[in-house]
Parts: sequence; C-alpha cells; structure tokens
Amino acid sequence: MYGLSAEDLRIQDRARTFADELIPFEVAAELNGGDLPKDVVAGHKARAIELGLFATNMPKVLGGGGCTSLQQVLVQEQAGRVTNALAWVAATPPSWLPSVATPYQLDKFVRPTVRGDREECYAITEEGAGSDVDGIVATARRDGDHYVLDGEKWHVTSFNSADYAFFQAKLVGGEQHGEHAMFIVDLPSPGVTVVRTPAYSHTISHHHPIVRFSAVQVPATHLVGAEGDGMSFAYEWFRFERIMVAARCLGGAQRLVDEMTAFAKEREVQGRPIASLGAIQGMLADSLTELFAARSLVYETARGIDAGADTKVQHAQCSMAKLYASEMAGRVADRAVQVFGGRGYMRENVAERLFRELRVERIWEGTSEVQRAIVADQMIKRGPRALA
Ligand SMILES: Cc1cc2nc3c(=O)[nH]c(=O)nc-3n(C[C@H](O)[C@H](O)[C@H](O)COP(=O)(O)OP(=O)(O)OC[C@H]3O[C@@H](n4cnc5c(N)ncnc54)[C@H](O)[C@@H]3O)c2cc1C
Repeated sequence: MYGLSAEDLRIQDRARTFADELIPFEVAAELNGGDLPKDVVAGHKARAIELGLFATNMPKVLGGGGCTSLQQVLVQEQAGRVTNALAWVAATPPSWLPSVATPYQLDKFVRPTVRGDREECYAITEEGAGSDVDGIVATARRDGDHYVLDGEKWHVTSFNSADYAFFQAKLVGGEQHGEHAMFIVDLPSPGVTVVRTPAYSHTISHHHPIVRFSAVQVPATHLVGAEGDGMSFAYEWFRFERIMVAARCLGGAQRLVDEMTAFAKEREVQGRPIASLGAIQGMLADSLTELFAARSLVYETARGIDAGADTKVQHAQCSMAKLYASEMAGRVADRAVQVFGGRGYMRENVAERLFRELRVERIWEGTSEVQRAIVADQMIKRGPRALA
C-alpha cells in the first residue's frame, strides 16, 4: 500500500516493533508524572539506536540514518502511536545544522548529538513572541571574542534533560543591528536560570520551563551561521518539524482507530456489540476515512520533498499536512473518548491520554491559524495548482 519500497517497509517495520515495545510502559509513566526509571529510559534509547531509529534525519557521514523524508515520516508515524512522549528517545537532532555548522560546532555539538551523547533544546518563543517570531526582544551584543545574551524564553521543551540550547536573539549594535542571530548555549551556564516550570496538559518527562538568560556569555564560535541568519534556520526547522508533527498525528490517530474498533467489537450493550450501532459506526468510519486522507497527503508531501520540490511549495505543503493531520487527529481523539464512554475519561485509557496530548499539535510549530495563513499566502502568490 502507498507504493512503499522494500527498504521503506523494513524501516517502518522496525519502528512499529519499537513502538509496540514502548506501549506497555505508558500507564506507569502516566501515573508517575511522565517519568520512568532512568535505566528503563536508557534501555529504550539504546534500543532505538540498535534498531537504526535514532537521528534518522541526519546525514550518514555524521553517523545519522540518512533516511529519505518519507522514511522519516514512517518512523515518526510509529512514534506517534506511543503516548507520554516515550518515543522521543528516538531523537531527531536539528537537520539544518550540519550545513551551517563550523568544524568546531560539528565536533562539539552535532556528532555527539547524533551519537545520542548530547541533547539540545530550543529557546526561541517569548511571552510576547510566539506566532510572530520576529517579535522577540531577547538581545545579543558582541563584546570582543564573545557575545552577551539577555532574554526570557518560554516553553523551552526538554530544558530539564538538554545540555545545550539554541537561543535566538536580535543583535544590538554592529552592522546587523536589529537582525536575528542564533547561538548555542552550553547548559548549565552562568546566568541561565529557570524562572518557573509550569504544568501542561500532557504528562511527559520533558518539561517546558520559562528560562531567564541574564548577561550570558558565549564564545563567538557559538554563533550559528552568520549574524542575520537566525530566521532562516527557524523556517527550515519549521518545515521539517511540521511534516513530522503531521506524521506523529497519523500514528496517534491510527492507534485510536485500532483501539476504538477493538473496543466497539468487544463491548456489548443490551446483548449486541456497540460496533453494530449506527451512531458508533459513524464515528469509526469518519475516523478511518479522515486518517486515510491525511496519510495520503502527508506521504505525498514527503515524496515531493524527496523529489526536490520548490522550497516555497514544500513549505506550504508541510503547512497543509500539519494543519489537516493535527485537526484530523483531534477529531479522532474526541470520537475515541466518546466510543470508550466512561473508560475514555480514565487516565489509564489511551484515548484519554491522546485526547490531551494531541491538542498541542494544533499549537506548537505554528498554530493552525498560522498554517492557514501560510497556505493562503502561497495560493495567492503562486496559484492553487502550484500547491495541490
Ligand atoms: C507544550 C509546548 C512546547 C513548546 N516548545 C517550544 C520550544 O521548545 N521552543 C520554543 O521556542 N517554543 C516552544 N513552544 C512555543 C510554541 O511554538 C508557541 O506556543 C506557538 O508557536 C504559538 O505561539 P503563542 O503561544 O505565542 O501563541 P500566540 O502567538 O499568542 O497566538 C494566540 C492566538 O492568536 C492566533 N494568531 C497569532 N498570529 C496569528 C496570525 N498571524 N493569523 C491568525 N491567527 C493568529 C494563534 O493562532 C492563537 O490562536 C512550545 C509551546 C507549547 C505549548
């Protein structure tokens, strides 16, 4: 199905096996604030590496999987079947970095991250700048052979486990005054402090604290690319992450379709399985139909990237994929809770967990409203036929 090659099917199969191995740990994680024993997590990470599911997006010359976009989608789709972010151990380091990293940055950050020895986090969003990244007020000022960074960043995912952060700021002084620049900050570093760690809807071990950077000094060698480049990295990363969000939404929806179908066949009311009731059948059928449509869209978008489609077209198509797949998964999760009835409201039930977890897929990496604006903008500039 979907015209997958033998190699695509092999990697999909390995990813499915891995997801199936993680699923039994979900409820323990859910009931323990998202945490599993450290040795268990280390074992999961080692298994991801052993199965060739770690850093699938990174070039082979750097030790990564060198997978096609479609293969990466297949892996992330399986990861999406697992709740509580347990599959995040199969990390995807920043794929935009190798082409701009200096030899020093490749050795210090990229290669160790591809090996699984280091972990990054992203400090870009601020209280007054989320959808509008250009609204950031964090600053970077050159001072001799280093930069001084200041700013308060929100929702810094994985700050509690990361050992370096990408920090985006606007330059103060110099020829590129007011332009964006991206820096790598080692963690911990003097001047980097957690303001607070808010609770979020999902139950995962990765926290999203608000982090204060106060007069943090980083060597000039930690500037990524050139001064003024900051926004271009963000756009490249958005493209990658948006289609991978879409892929994980496919996996979440697939899990729910499987589980709600099994439950509907098994649960009997007044002597008949609820699967025989028209109202329940409608929810099952709508869910699978929308999943099929979303999967076709996401796979086709990945194939376009692999075939070298125009970057702006890719950008709009990744937005369409994220928009449709995340909204689809939200509808499927809502139906799944309904099909499970009272059980669907219990934290030990996968529908309850995915109902909460999938909600953020419509928010992070650009909200649904932002995706619509991107698509419409490209439709107006290029014409609808250029995109679909
Ligand atoms: C769990 C979680 C983890 C995150 N992790 C990270 C991270 O690791 N690093 C990081 O830097 N950021 C992270 N983020 C931030 C995330 O990317 C932003 O929350 C997201 O981009 C939305 O920005 P915002 O929250 O400021 O919403 P706002 O921009 O305040 O949006 C509010 C509302 O206005 C709408 N809106 C805004 N602009 C437009 C527009 N142009 N057209 C139409 N409607 C619009 C939005 O759609 C939304 O409905 C994370 C967020 C969450 C919730």
